[in-house]
Amino acid sequence: MRVVSLHPDVLVATSAVLQVNCVIVRGSIAGTEADGQRSSPGARNAERENPVRVIEIAGEASAAAESFVIDSPVLPEELETLPALLAQAHFPEPSGLLATHGDWDHLLGRLAYPGLVLGCAQSTAERLRASPGEAQRALRAFDKDLLIERPRPLALGSIQALPVPGRCGIGDHELELHPAEGHTVDGMAIWISWARVLVAGDYLSTVEPPTLDDGGDRDAYLATLARLRPLVASAERVVPGHGPVLDTGRALEVLEENVVALT
Ligand SMILES: [Zn+2]
Repeated sequence: MRVVSLHPDVLVATSAVLQVNCVIVRGSIAGTEADGQRSSPGARNAERENPVRVIEIAGEASAAAESFVIDSPVLPEELETLPALLAQAHFPEPSGLLATHGDWDHLLGRLAYPGLVLGCAQSTAERLRASPGEAQRALRAFDKDLLIERPRPLALGSIQALPVPGRCGIGDHELELHPAEGHTVDGMAIWISWARVLVAGDYLSTVEPPTLDDGGDRDAYLATLARLRPLVASAERVVPGHGPVLDTGRALEVLEENVVALT
């Protein structure tokens, strides 16, 4: 597993298989009174209607932060390493997991953090609910082919459907969630505004051409690319679901190549 820091608050761990990217993001909590709307990795829209005022205690909270793990590496030893990796980077224990979409290779975070809630787009929650066991079956087939043994089976546990488009609070910051369907029937891209990092899900990859999986849709894919274009243009780094992290210029090139390939 290769780990790169894209920003003091953003790490990318790339799995040795499938080059799946797992992004770890940290949002710091100011040491003074936080009078914003604070939230855990849950539905932000509801909260905006009913804001919760949280007062942080100065001093105690000065070094505090919250972190989320977005998507996952694939190999058991990579998943086992995640907690040590976060500790080494002085990231706090994650308070939640996020998945860009419901393909099995992005859902393995709970093998590393069995107790955490998995947050995903409403579309992904619906997909997972509609096809129970699909991710587990795909994982078992993959593991069987590669003779991979795991200490425990995958249990997706409690899944929190997030409104997309929407926002998800992390420390004093917010992640922006943007719909990203087309590759599959579900999904979201995550914009880490303060770090100018776009976590694209299975789009904008230099190792995986645009693919329409079961439930995928060409028009939805093109609409997602159009939606992502302004985010890519203002990003410093774009993290696709698989393969190398791209700078803005390269990501825009890939985006336009994908549009041509699909039209
Ligand atoms: Zn994938």
